Amino acid sequence: MRIFRARLVIPSAGSEPILDGCVAISADRIAAVGPFEEIRTRFTGGEVIDLRHAVILPGLVNAHQHGRGISPLLLGYQDDALEPWIAARRRHGPPDVYAVTRLAAEEMLANGVTATLHANYNYGSDYRQELDTTVRAYSDAGLRATICIGYQDRGFLAYGNEAEFVATLPEDARKALHSRGAPPYAGSVAETIGLMDEMSARFEDTPLISFAYGPAGPQWVSDEAWAALARDAAKRGIGLHFHLLESPLQADWCRKAFGGSTLAHLRRLGVFEAAASCAHGVYMSEEDMTLAREEAVVVVANPGSNLRLFNGPPPAAELHRRGCVVAVGTDNTALADDEDYLAELRLYASLARSPGVEAIGPSPVDILRTATTSGGKAAFLPAGYGSLAPDQPADLVAIDCAGFEAPDGSMAKNPLSLLLARAKGTDVALTMTAGVVRYARRDQDLERRIHWRRVATASVGKRELRQDGTTVAAIQQALRGRRREA
Ligand SMILES: [Zn+2]
Repeated sequence: MRIFRARLVIPSAGSEPILDGCVAISADRIAAVGPFEEIRTRFTGGEVIDLRHAVILPGLVNAHQHGRGISPLLLGYQDDALEPWIAARRRHGPPDVYAVTRLAAEEMLANGVTATLHANYNYGSDYRQELDTTVRAYSDAGLRATICIGYQDRGFLAYGNEAEFVATLPEDARKALHSRGAPPYAGSVAETIGLMDEMSARFEDTPLISFAYGPAGPQWVSDEAWAALARDAAKRGIGLHFHLLESPLQADWCRKAFGGSTLAHLRRLGVFEAAASCAHGVYMSEEDMTLAREEAVVVVANPGSNLRLFNGPPPAAELHRRGCVVAVGTDNTALADDEDYLAELRLYASLARSPGVEAIGPSPVDILRTATTSGGKAAFLPAGYGSLAPDQPADLVAIDCAGFEAPDGSMAKNPLSLLLARAKGTDVALTMTAGVVRYARRDQDLERRIHWRRVATASVGKRELRQDGTTVAAIQQALRGRRREA
């Protein structure tokens, strides 16, 4: 038994902070949470770890990211409108997938994140291998991860009629267009389901790792595939996570293709027979938001990514006002191009404040819920994930109080609002998953990150060149033309 004693323990969103509190941990589970004096008498002989300079909270959940430990910006893809930005990635083959994913996991742990949803991603090499490597990277780092098995069967170059789009490219670009040897991800729906069988069986006993389906998004996946993947997800009792209405071009295409609400279309296909969460939702209509609430679809806001990629802010205030369940992700494109989850959460909280003298917006408790239990729902983790309670997994974060100590000593009375207003990733003193301390500002923690950053960075320079710059520029220009028309 180990007893982690803190200046304050906030067991969950909505529960009272416990002054001089502690969390007792037995193996990978929480045994008890309460005032230190009381718990110590229950577990005499337990080892006491003193964190009285810190507040203990449930671990934070990064509910949408892609394991890109080296950010797209550092990979050489400048911030741009979403579609040309995605097209830029055609230039190169994969870096060292293990190293970049491992680095992403280490960065998240250092920023207080204990669980993440790894959204669909394929570097264009063997997908089975990439997934295998991804599982190992999260598992070795000790970050809890729900890994999406991706799927896409259309919209590779542009949304809608691709042949028509290719015909608009200059002749040289058409000739030089790198033909994809194989479709992305596993291939067909049957192969995707087969890969889910294989991965779930192979990693059944791997702690911290679970799987979900990741159909890329409505403009990228056919109706038949949506229906088939949702049916299979419902049968297995797993979730389905997708990108939704992220850019103006996607919004325009979906409106024309589905004749109204995109979520209404997905509902007709039976998508919500399975648990579902979606990322972005920047262009959700009123009907989309109503349906998200009715169907318990968790919306994962990625505010830094949305602002940087010229999509505008997510409708955070409106989602909050309508009572939708919202979580937050960094999308590996956070505002300061880092993995500072607390900063991203703060950006979300600010965007969720409606202008006006009534001061309407989420409370600190609402924001903590967004970062914890709602994140757990978005990542399809078992019920109760995101609260420190007996029998829950021992996933927690301790945040140094020095950064948000008020001179009048009011911190203890008002800890959550001060913490959410001021705490940064660098204030994280300790991150634990499944009862194991994964990060604690020790030399070894810093060295481990430096090591993986070095390995990942070295591999970036060795990437295979897939497509010449002139052709990519021609594709980008044609996409910008579409964007202007939209
Ligand atoms: Zn994403």
